[in-house]
Amino acid sequence: MRGVDIIIKKRDKGELTLAEIEYFIKSFISGEVTDYQASALLMAIVLNGMNPRETTDLTLAMANSGHMLDLSDVVDLAVDKHSSGGVGDKTSLAVLPIVAACGLPVGKMSGRGLGFSGGTLDKLESIPGYRVDLTTEEFKHQLKEKGIVLTGQSLDLAPADGKLYALRDVTGTVESIPLIASSIMCKKLAAGAQAILLDVKTGLGAFMETVEQARQLANLMVDIGQLAGRDVVALLSDMNQPLGYAVGNSLEVIEAIETLQDNGPEDFLEHCLYVSAYMLVLGKRANDLTEGRAMAEKSIADGSAFEKFRVLVAAQGGDVSYADDTSKFPRAALVEVVESPQNGYVAQIQARSVGEAAVALGAGRARKSDPIDHAVGFVIHHKVGDQVKKGEPLFTIHANDQGKLAEAREAVFSAHAFREEPVEHLPLFYE
Ligand code: URA
Repeated sequence: MRGVDIIIKKRDKGELTLAEIEYFIKSFISGEVTDYQASALLMAIVLNGMNPRETTDLTLAMANSGHMLDLSDVVDLAVDKHSSGGVGDKTSLAVLPIVAACGLPVGKMSGRGLGFSGGTLDKLESIPGYRVDLTTEEFKHQLKEKGIVLTGQSLDLAPADGKLYALRDVTGTVESIPLIASSIMCKKLAAGAQAILLDVKTGLGAFMETVEQARQLANLMVDIGQLAGRDVVALLSDMNQPLGYAVGNSLEVIEAIETLQDNGPEDFLEHCLYVSAYMLVLGKRANDLTEGRAMAEKSIADGSAFEKFRVLVAAQGGDVSYADDTSKFPRAALVEVVESPQNGYVAQIQARSVGEAAVALGAGRARKSDPIDHAVGFVIHHKVGDQVKKGEPLFTIHANDQGKLAEAREAVFSAHAFREEPVEHLPLFYE
Protein backbone atom coordinates (compact mmCIF):
# COMPACT_ATOMS: atom_id res chain seq x y z
CA MET A 1 0.00 0.00 0.00
CA ARG A 2 1.16 3.58 -0.66
CA GLY A 3 -0.03 6.82 0.88
CA VAL A 4 -0.27 8.49 -2.51
CA ASP A 5 -2.72 5.87 -3.82
CA ILE A 6 -5.01 6.48 -0.85
CA ILE A 7 -4.91 10.23 -1.53
CA ILE A 8 -5.72 9.64 -5.20
CA LYS A 9 -8.61 7.33 -4.30
CA LYS A 10 -10.21 9.96 -2.05
CA ARG A 11 -9.43 12.72 -4.55
CA ASP A 12 -11.43 10.70 -7.10
CA LYS A 13 -14.34 10.34 -4.65
CA GLY A 14 -13.59 6.72 -3.74
CA GLU A 15 -14.61 5.05 -0.48
CA LEU A 16 -11.60 4.15 1.66
CA THR A 17 -11.42 0.71 3.25
CA LEU A 18 -10.64 0.09 6.91
CA ALA A 19 -7.22 -1.28 5.88
CA GLU A 20 -6.42 1.87 3.88
CA ILE A 21 -7.45 4.19 6.69
CA GLU A 22 -5.47 2.23 9.29
CA TYR A 23 -2.43 2.08 7.02
CA PHE A 24 -2.50 5.83 6.37
CA ILE A 25 -2.79 6.75 10.05
CA LYS A 26 -0.06 4.29 11.12
CA SER A 27 2.28 5.48 8.39
CA PHE A 28 1.61 9.11 9.25
CA ILE A 29 2.57 8.45 12.86
CA SER A 30 5.73 6.57 11.84
CA GLY A 31 6.73 9.38 9.46
CA GLU A 32 6.48 7.28 6.31
CA VAL A 33 3.50 9.39 5.21
CA THR A 34 4.63 13.02 5.27
CA ASP A 35 2.87 16.16 6.52
CA TYR A 36 2.25 17.29 2.93
CA GLN A 37 0.67 13.97 2.02
CA ALA A 38 -1.53 14.04 5.10
CA SER A 39 -2.56 17.60 4.21
CA ALA A 40 -3.50 16.46 0.72
CA LEU A 41 -5.67 13.66 2.10
CA LEU A 42 -7.28 16.08 4.55
CA MET A 43 -8.20 18.41 1.69
CA ALA A 44 -9.57 15.50 -0.35
CA ILE A 45 -11.76 14.54 2.63
CA VAL A 46 -12.95 18.15 3.04
CA LEU A 47 -13.93 18.24 -0.63
CA ASN A 48 -15.28 14.73 -1.13
CA GLY A 49 -16.43 13.70 2.34
CA MET A 50 -16.49 10.34 4.06
CA ASN A 51 -19.48 8.14 4.81
CA PRO A 52 -20.34 7.21 8.43
CA ARG A 53 -18.49 3.88 8.14
CA GLU A 54 -15.28 5.57 6.93
CA THR A 55 -15.62 8.23 9.64
CA THR A 56 -16.01 5.60 12.35
CA ASP A 57 -12.98 3.68 11.01
CA LEU A 58 -10.96 6.91 10.94
CA THR A 59 -12.00 7.72 14.50
CA LEU A 60 -10.97 4.31 15.79
CA ALA A 61 -7.68 4.34 13.84
CA MET A 62 -6.85 7.74 15.37
CA ALA A 63 -7.88 6.65 18.85
CA ASN A 64 -5.76 3.50 18.49
CA SER A 65 -2.73 5.51 17.36
CA GLY A 66 -1.78 5.72 21.05
CA HIS A 67 -2.86 4.28 24.37
CA MET A 68 -6.55 3.76 25.09
CA LEU A 69 -7.07 4.71 28.71
CA ASP A 70 -9.14 2.44 30.88
CA LEU A 71 -10.33 4.49 33.82
CA SER A 72 -12.38 1.78 35.50
CA ASP A 73 -9.61 1.04 38.00
CA VAL A 74 -9.38 4.75 38.90
CA VAL A 75 -12.97 5.99 39.21
CA ASP A 76 -16.33 4.26 38.96
CA LEU A 77 -17.74 6.67 36.37
CA ALA A 78 -15.82 9.43 34.62
CA VAL A 79 -17.49 12.02 32.42
CA ASP A 80 -15.83 14.01 29.65
CA LYS A 81 -16.99 16.93 27.53
CA HIS A 82 -15.98 18.53 24.27
CA SER A 83 -16.98 21.54 22.24
CA SER A 84 -16.90 21.55 18.46
CA GLY A 85 -15.17 24.94 18.60
CA GLY A 86 -16.20 28.55 18.74
CA VAL A 87 -15.24 32.11 19.58
CA GLY A 88 -14.92 33.08 23.24
CA ASP A 89 -15.69 29.48 24.17
CA LYS A 90 -13.97 29.06 27.51
CA THR A 91 -16.64 26.64 28.75
CA SER A 92 -14.28 23.83 29.82
CA LEU A 93 -12.34 26.19 32.08
CA ALA A 94 -15.45 26.79 34.16
CA VAL A 95 -17.51 23.64 33.69
CA LEU A 96 -14.83 21.13 34.65
CA PRO A 97 -14.22 22.69 38.09
CA ILE A 98 -17.98 23.02 38.61
CA VAL A 99 -18.80 19.37 38.00
CA ALA A 100 -15.67 18.15 39.79
CA ALA A 101 -16.68 20.26 42.80
CA CYS A 102 -20.04 18.45 42.69
CA GLY A 103 -18.20 15.15 43.18
CA LEU A 104 -18.10 13.99 39.57
CA PRO A 105 -14.58 13.04 38.41
CA VAL A 106 -13.77 14.66 35.09
CA GLY A 107 -10.69 14.14 32.93
CA LYS A 108 -10.41 15.89 29.61
CA MET A 109 -8.03 16.11 26.70
CA SER A 110 -8.44 19.47 25.01
CA GLY A 111 -7.09 20.97 21.82
CA ARG A 112 -5.27 24.08 20.68
CA GLY A 113 -6.75 26.89 18.63
CA LEU A 114 -8.16 25.71 15.33
CA GLY A 115 -8.67 28.23 12.53
CA PHE A 116 -10.66 31.15 13.95
CA SER A 117 -11.71 29.21 17.07
CA GLY A 118 -9.74 29.40 20.28
CA GLY A 119 -8.24 26.36 22.00
CA THR A 120 -8.43 25.46 25.68
CA LEU A 121 -4.75 24.45 25.81
CA ASP A 122 -3.57 27.80 24.45
CA LYS A 123 -5.76 29.51 27.03
CA LEU A 124 -4.44 27.41 29.90
CA GLU A 125 -0.86 28.11 28.91
CA SER A 126 -1.50 31.75 29.83
CA ILE A 127 -0.97 30.50 33.39
CA PRO A 128 2.80 30.21 33.93
CA GLY A 129 3.93 26.65 34.53
CA TYR A 130 0.62 24.97 33.62
CA ARG A 131 1.46 21.64 31.97
CA VAL A 132 -0.71 20.38 29.12
CA ASP A 133 1.42 17.31 28.36
CA LEU A 134 0.50 14.86 31.10
CA THR A 135 1.45 11.23 30.52
CA THR A 136 -1.14 8.50 30.75
CA GLU A 137 0.06 7.62 34.23
CA GLU A 138 -0.10 11.23 35.36
CA PHE A 139 -3.61 11.59 33.89
CA LYS A 140 -4.89 8.58 35.82
CA HIS A 141 -3.11 9.49 39.03
CA GLN A 142 -4.44 13.05 38.99
CA LEU A 143 -7.99 11.94 38.16
CA LYS A 144 -7.93 9.57 41.11
CA GLU A 145 -6.33 11.99 43.54
CA LYS A 146 -7.90 15.31 42.52
CA GLY A 147 -10.99 14.32 40.51
CA ILE A 148 -10.09 16.77 37.72
CA VAL A 149 -7.69 16.76 34.76
CA LEU A 150 -7.45 19.20 31.84
CA THR A 151 -4.61 18.36 29.52
CA GLY A 152 -3.71 17.98 25.85
CA GLN A 153 -2.98 15.07 23.60
CA SER A 154 0.20 13.66 24.99
CA LEU A 155 2.51 11.62 22.86
CA ASP A 156 0.68 8.52 23.95
CA LEU A 157 -2.99 9.56 23.74
CA ALA A 158 -4.52 9.95 20.26
CA PRO A 159 -1.25 11.28 18.79
CA ALA A 160 -2.65 11.06 15.25
CA ASP A 161 -5.18 13.74 16.10
CA GLY A 162 -2.48 15.96 17.60
CA LYS A 163 -0.53 15.86 14.34
CA LEU A 164 -3.52 16.13 12.01
CA TYR A 165 -5.07 18.92 14.07
CA ALA A 166 -1.95 21.06 13.72
CA LEU A 167 -2.05 20.57 9.94
CA ARG A 168 -5.77 21.29 9.68
CA ASP A 169 -5.33 24.55 11.56
CA VAL A 170 -3.09 25.96 8.84
CA THR A 171 -4.27 24.23 5.66
CA GLY A 172 -7.92 25.30 5.48
CA THR A 173 -9.10 21.79 6.31
CA VAL A 174 -11.12 22.32 9.46
CA GLU A 175 -14.68 22.60 8.16
CA SER A 176 -15.57 18.99 7.50
CA ILE A 177 -18.07 16.83 9.37
CA PRO A 178 -16.00 13.60 9.16
CA LEU A 179 -12.78 15.38 10.19
CA ILE A 180 -14.36 17.19 13.14
CA ALA A 181 -16.29 14.11 14.27
CA SER A 182 -13.22 11.84 14.13
CA SER A 183 -10.97 14.45 15.76
CA ILE A 184 -13.30 14.98 18.69
CA MET A 185 -14.41 11.40 19.18
CA CYS A 186 -10.94 9.80 18.92
CA LYS A 187 -9.81 11.95 21.86
CA LYS A 188 -12.97 11.13 23.82
CA LEU A 189 -12.61 7.39 23.22
CA ALA A 190 -8.87 7.40 24.02
CA ALA A 191 -9.39 9.35 27.24
CA GLY A 192 -11.56 6.54 28.56
CA ALA A 193 -14.57 8.36 30.03
CA GLN A 194 -17.70 6.25 30.10
CA ALA A 195 -20.02 9.22 29.53
CA ILE A 196 -19.49 12.15 27.17
CA LEU A 197 -21.23 15.51 26.79
CA LEU A 198 -20.78 17.12 23.36
CA ASP A 199 -21.36 20.85 22.97
CA VAL A 200 -21.92 21.23 19.24
CA LYS A 201 -21.79 24.87 18.17
CA THR A 202 -23.82 26.29 15.35
CA GLY A 203 -23.85 29.73 13.77
CA LEU A 204 -21.62 32.25 12.04
CA GLY A 205 -18.75 31.64 14.47
CA ALA A 206 -18.92 27.84 14.35
CA PHE A 207 -17.59 25.31 11.89
CA MET A 208 -21.20 24.22 11.37
CA GLU A 209 -23.06 27.36 10.30
CA THR A 210 -26.57 25.87 10.17
CA VAL A 211 -28.51 23.94 12.80
CA GLU A 212 -29.02 21.19 10.21
CA GLN A 213 -25.24 20.73 9.73
CA ALA A 214 -24.65 20.83 13.48
CA ARG A 215 -27.37 18.22 14.01
CA GLN A 216 -25.72 15.97 11.41
CA LEU A 217 -22.34 16.31 13.15
CA ALA A 218 -23.93 15.72 16.55
CA ASN A 219 -25.78 12.60 15.43
CA LEU A 220 -22.66 11.16 13.85
CA MET A 221 -20.60 11.71 17.01
CA VAL A 222 -23.32 10.26 19.23
CA ASP A 223 -23.49 7.18 16.96
CA ILE A 224 -19.70 6.71 17.05
CA GLY A 225 -19.65 7.05 20.84
CA GLN A 226 -22.52 4.64 21.35
CA LEU A 227 -20.90 2.13 19.01
CA ALA A 228 -17.88 2.26 21.30
CA GLY A 229 -20.14 1.59 24.31
CA ARG A 230 -20.20 5.13 25.71
CA ASP A 231 -23.14 7.13 26.99
CA VAL A 232 -23.25 10.29 24.85
CA VAL A 233 -25.41 13.41 24.84
CA ALA A 234 -25.01 16.26 22.34
CA LEU A 235 -26.35 19.79 22.80
CA LEU A 236 -26.65 22.24 19.89
CA SER A 237 -25.62 25.67 21.15
CA ASP A 238 -25.48 29.13 19.62
CA MET A 239 -22.25 30.51 18.20
CA ASN A 240 -23.47 33.44 16.14
CA GLN A 241 -21.91 35.88 18.60
CA PRO A 242 -18.92 35.29 20.92
CA LEU A 243 -19.76 33.41 24.13
CA GLY A 244 -19.33 35.74 27.12
CA TYR A 245 -17.43 38.95 26.50
CA ALA A 246 -13.76 37.96 26.33
CA VAL A 247 -12.02 36.62 23.23
CA GLY A 248 -8.30 35.86 23.51
CA ASN A 249 -6.31 33.52 25.71
CA SER A 250 -5.58 35.18 29.05
CA LEU A 251 -8.65 37.43 28.75
CA GLU A 252 -10.78 34.28 28.55
CA VAL A 253 -9.03 32.60 31.48
CA ILE A 254 -9.72 35.71 33.56
CA GLU A 255 -13.39 35.66 32.51
CA ALA A 256 -13.68 31.97 33.42
CA ILE A 257 -12.13 32.67 36.83
CA GLU A 258 -14.55 35.56 37.38
CA THR A 259 -17.44 33.28 36.43
CA LEU A 260 -16.29 30.70 38.98
CA GLN A 261 -16.26 33.56 41.48
CA ASP A 262 -19.88 34.37 40.55
CA ASN A 263 -18.90 37.51 38.74
CA GLY A 264 -19.02 36.44 35.09
CA PRO A 265 -21.16 37.35 32.07
CA GLU A 266 -24.76 36.20 32.31
CA ASP A 267 -24.83 34.26 29.02
CA PHE A 268 -21.61 32.41 29.77
CA LEU A 269 -22.72 31.51 33.29
CA GLU A 270 -26.06 30.26 32.00
CA HIS A 271 -24.31 28.21 29.31
CA CYS A 272 -22.00 26.65 31.91
CA LEU A 273 -24.84 25.83 34.32
CA TYR A 274 -26.79 24.12 31.54
CA VAL A 275 -23.80 22.05 30.35
CA SER A 276 -22.86 21.19 33.95
CA ALA A 277 -26.40 20.03 34.73
CA TYR A 278 -26.31 17.62 31.78
CA MET A 279 -22.91 16.30 32.85
CA LEU A 280 -24.08 15.74 36.41
CA VAL A 281 -27.08 13.76 35.16
CA LEU A 282 -24.91 11.77 32.71
CA GLY A 283 -22.50 11.07 35.55
CA LYS A 284 -25.36 9.94 37.81
CA ARG A 285 -24.65 12.56 40.45
CA ALA A 286 -27.99 14.31 39.83
CA ASN A 287 -31.38 12.71 39.22
CA ASP A 288 -32.52 15.35 36.78
CA LEU A 289 -31.46 18.63 35.18
CA THR A 290 -33.11 20.75 37.86
CA GLU A 291 -31.13 19.04 40.58
CA GLY A 292 -27.94 19.19 38.47
CA ARG A 293 -28.35 22.90 37.93
CA ALA A 294 -28.95 23.54 41.62
CA MET A 295 -25.77 21.60 42.46
CA ALA A 296 -23.79 23.60 39.89
CA GLU A 297 -25.14 26.90 41.22
CA LYS A 298 -24.28 25.91 44.78
CA SER A 299 -20.70 25.01 43.81
CA ILE A 300 -20.21 28.55 42.52
CA ALA A 301 -21.99 30.21 45.45
CA ASP A 302 -20.02 28.31 48.11
CA GLY A 303 -16.65 28.77 46.39
CA SER A 304 -16.01 25.05 45.90
CA ALA A 305 -15.93 25.34 42.08
CA PHE A 306 -13.28 28.07 42.20
CA GLU A 307 -11.34 26.04 44.76
CA LYS A 308 -11.41 23.06 42.31
CA PHE A 309 -9.97 25.34 39.62
CA ARG A 310 -7.11 26.21 42.00
CA VAL A 311 -6.59 22.51 42.70
CA LEU A 312 -6.45 21.83 38.94
CA VAL A 313 -3.94 24.59 38.28
CA ALA A 314 -1.70 23.50 41.16
CA ALA A 315 -1.89 19.80 40.21
CA GLN A 316 -0.68 20.61 36.69
CA GLY A 317 2.18 22.80 37.82
CA GLY A 318 0.55 26.19 37.22
CA ASP A 319 1.10 29.28 39.34
CA VAL A 320 -2.06 29.44 41.47
CA SER A 321 -1.37 33.03 42.44
CA TYR A 322 -2.63 33.99 38.95
CA ALA A 323 -6.03 32.51 39.82
CA ASP A 324 -6.06 34.41 43.12
CA ASP A 325 -4.97 37.69 41.56
CA THR A 326 -5.85 37.97 37.87
CA SER A 327 -4.06 41.32 37.58
CA LYS A 328 -0.88 39.22 37.42
CA PHE A 329 -1.69 38.08 33.86
CA PRO A 330 0.46 40.14 31.49
CA ARG A 331 -1.48 42.97 29.86
CA ALA A 332 -1.09 43.89 26.20
CA ALA A 333 0.87 47.10 25.61
CA LEU A 334 -1.98 48.76 23.72
CA VAL A 335 -5.52 48.82 25.10
CA GLU A 336 -8.09 50.80 23.14
CA VAL A 337 -11.80 51.25 23.77
CA VAL A 338 -13.92 51.62 20.63
CA GLU A 339 -17.22 53.45 21.09
CA SER A 340 -20.63 52.86 19.57
CA PRO A 341 -21.10 55.14 16.55
CA GLN A 342 -24.88 55.40 17.05
CA ASN A 343 -27.91 54.87 19.25
CA GLY A 344 -29.81 51.67 18.59
CA TYR A 345 -29.84 47.94 19.16
CA VAL A 346 -27.01 45.52 18.43
CA ALA A 347 -28.29 43.35 15.56
CA GLN A 348 -25.18 41.26 14.88
CA ILE A 349 -21.70 40.55 16.23
CA GLN A 350 -20.20 38.33 13.57
CA ALA A 351 -18.36 35.85 15.75
CA ARG A 352 -16.18 34.41 13.01
CA SER A 353 -14.83 37.85 12.08
CA VAL A 354 -14.05 38.51 15.76
CA GLY A 355 -12.25 35.14 15.98
CA GLU A 356 -10.28 35.82 12.81
CA ALA A 357 -9.34 39.27 14.08
CA ALA A 358 -8.09 37.71 17.34
CA VAL A 359 -5.93 35.26 15.39
CA ALA A 360 -4.54 38.19 13.34
CA LEU A 361 -3.63 39.97 16.59
CA GLY A 362 -1.59 36.89 17.56
CA ALA A 363 -4.08 34.94 19.70
CA GLY A 364 -3.97 32.06 17.18
CA ARG A 365 -1.59 30.69 14.58
CA ALA A 366 -1.11 31.31 10.85
CA ARG A 367 1.60 28.62 10.69
CA LYS A 368 2.06 25.48 12.74
CA SER A 369 5.14 26.79 14.52
CA ASP A 370 3.80 30.28 15.27
CA PRO A 371 3.97 31.29 18.93
CA ILE A 372 0.80 32.49 20.67
CA ASP A 373 0.49 35.95 22.17
CA HIS A 374 -1.53 35.20 25.29
CA ALA A 375 -2.27 38.82 26.16
CA VAL A 376 -4.05 39.97 23.00
CA GLY A 377 -7.74 39.82 22.11
CA PHE A 378 -10.99 41.63 22.69
CA VAL A 379 -13.61 42.32 25.26
CA ILE A 380 -16.93 42.74 23.46
CA HIS A 381 -19.12 44.82 25.72
CA HIS A 382 -22.58 43.90 24.37
CA LYS A 383 -24.70 41.01 23.21
CA VAL A 384 -27.04 40.90 20.22
CA GLY A 385 -30.32 42.52 21.33
CA ASP A 386 -28.67 44.99 23.75
CA GLN A 387 -29.58 48.64 23.45
CA VAL A 388 -26.55 50.89 22.98
CA LYS A 389 -26.05 54.63 23.09
CA LYS A 390 -23.74 56.60 20.84
CA GLY A 391 -20.35 57.00 22.53
CA GLU A 392 -20.79 54.01 24.88
CA PRO A 393 -17.94 51.46 24.88
CA LEU A 394 -18.64 48.87 22.18
CA PHE A 395 -15.50 46.75 22.44
CA THR A 396 -11.98 46.96 23.85
CA ILE A 397 -8.92 45.87 21.87
CA HIS A 398 -5.85 44.41 23.59
CA ALA A 399 -2.94 44.48 21.13
CA ASN A 400 0.82 44.48 21.06
CA ASP A 401 1.30 46.05 17.65
CA GLN A 402 -0.04 49.37 16.39
CA GLY A 403 -0.64 48.16 12.81
CA LYS A 404 -2.45 45.05 13.95
CA LEU A 405 -4.53 47.12 16.35
CA ALA A 406 -5.75 49.32 13.49
CA GLU A 407 -6.71 46.26 11.43
CA ALA A 408 -8.47 44.70 14.43
CA ARG A 409 -10.42 47.91 15.07
CA GLU A 410 -11.73 47.88 11.51
CA ALA A 411 -12.52 44.13 11.51
CA VAL A 412 -14.39 44.03 14.83
CA PHE A 413 -16.18 47.28 14.11
CA SER A 414 -17.41 45.80 10.80
CA ALA A 415 -18.47 42.64 12.66
CA HIS A 416 -21.09 44.74 14.46
CA ALA A 417 -24.42 45.71 12.89
CA PHE A 418 -27.09 47.94 14.44
CA ARG A 419 -30.80 48.49 14.04
CA GLU A 420 -33.04 51.26 15.26
CA GLU A 421 -35.88 48.88 16.21
CA PRO A 422 -35.55 46.40 19.09
CA VAL A 423 -33.74 43.17 18.23
CA GLU A 424 -34.38 39.80 19.92
CA HIS A 425 -31.65 38.30 22.07
CA LEU A 426 -30.17 35.10 20.62
CA PRO A 427 -30.99 31.76 22.25
CA LEU A 428 -28.15 29.94 24.02
CA PHE A 429 -29.25 26.46 22.93
CA TYR A 430 -31.25 25.15 19.98
CA GLU A 431 -31.67 21.45 20.78
N1 URA B 1 -12.44 20.25 18.32
C1 URA B 1 -11.62 19.22 18.01
O1 URA B 1 -11.05 18.60 18.89
N2 URA B 1 -11.46 18.91 16.73
C2 URA B 1 -12.08 19.55 15.72
O2 URA B 1 -11.90 19.19 14.58
C3 URA B 1 -12.93 20.63 16.05
C4 URA B 1 -13.09 20.97 17.36
